[in-house]
Amino acid sequence: MAPVLRSNPFWRGRLSDVRGWDDFERLPLTTKSELLADQDANPPFGTNLTYPLDRYVRLHQTSGSSGAQPLRWLDTAESWDWWLRIWAEHVFPAAGVTATDRLFFAFSFGPFVGFWSAFGGAERLGALAISGGGMTSEQRVRTMAELGATVLLSTPTYALRLADVARGIGLDPAEGKIRITLHAGEPGASIPATRSAIETAYAAQCFDHTGMTEVGPTGHSCSQRDGIHAIEPEFIFEVIDESGHAASEGEGELVATNLGRWGMPLIRYRTGDRVALSREPCSCGSPYVKLVGGIRGRVDDMFTVRGVNLYPSQVEDIVRRHPRVTEFVIERRRVRQMDEVALLVEIGGPDSSTERLEADLRQALGVRLECRVVPAGTLPRSDLKATRVMSVS
Ligand SMILES: [Zn+2]
Repeated sequence: MAPVLRSNPFWRGRLSDVRGWDDFERLPLTTKSELLADQDANPPFGTNLTYPLDRYVRLHQTSGSSGAQPLRWLDTAESWDWWLRIWAEHVFPAAGVTATDRLFFAFSFGPFVGFWSAFGGAERLGALAISGGGMTSEQRVRTMAELGATVLLSTPTYALRLADVARGIGLDPAEGKIRITLHAGEPGASIPATRSAIETAYAAQCFDHTGMTEVGPTGHSCSQRDGIHAIEPEFIFEVIDESGHAASEGEGELVATNLGRWGMPLIRYRTGDRVALSREPCSCGSPYVKLVGGIRGRVDDMFTVRGVNLYPSQVEDIVRRHPRVTEFVIERRRVRQMDEVALLVEIGGPDSSTERLEADLRQALGVRLECRVVPAGTLPRSDLKATRVMSVS
């Protein structure tokens, strides 16, 4: 921490010498809004810079999917190498990806960091990395088939969409060579119904990866398929409760400190992800702590229906059991200090009834959630993160 304390203006004012865990826990928590405010006040990169600008070699930014101003993030050659090494040493091996695989990245390769690091990590592994940037969905489907891709990397929602597009042009993705799908950006690969829909569509095994532009690659699912292992050698992870103190049951918001990104580090960063930790040994042999069920939701994505707190992932787990639903969004309207929530769905095929879906939702969630059918193609679509909660006024 010494070079950061000496030269990084953002952290110099926030940090003090750490001699043990007690000192570390007394350091302030850091939020995304503080980072955004810092970049706003000190454009374009903010003051979280440990080294002179010449030392940085890559610029990426957050996806801006929440409608917020994107957060810019710089990497040095060393910190970018750290990302790639974590993919090659942790994330890919946990999913069973090897040097003989051909990886297709159904990703736009814009400024959002997304799968850029995975692409470099695949090269590091010795696998063949194929960019799907600048292609339509149909071109991506055809390219995967022509080149015999064995691993698909995309958001879970976009994997399902590509499967639909493939079937639309007479290609059955289950007959193709894809044997592993690896996802990030949304929690879907840890949501049983979504994972099962992807695995059926591709006749493949589906894995989850967690990471953040500003933090780095934090975790991956494993053969046990019941959660995400947090990559402990590369981070310090904590879980806090609403008061900001260590959560006694290991259930709360994940806080991360990265240990390989000294040029633009994050210390005690509130990820906004709701998790539950387990130290139970895992049958996959991983010694790392597990986020049970993956990321349960974003702290700011929670919505309330008649007093019941819900996360989009709980809704997704029911919706994905209804393959007729091709796209969905939770619409949240604030009326007299209360959430009024409706599920907007696009339905493929002539039968547009939502009775079964509404009944399943009510049974699983314990409250009635109104479903409204909207015309096909009207909900937002992205090969980056899907927007699942839309606030309207
Ligand atoms: Zn495991």
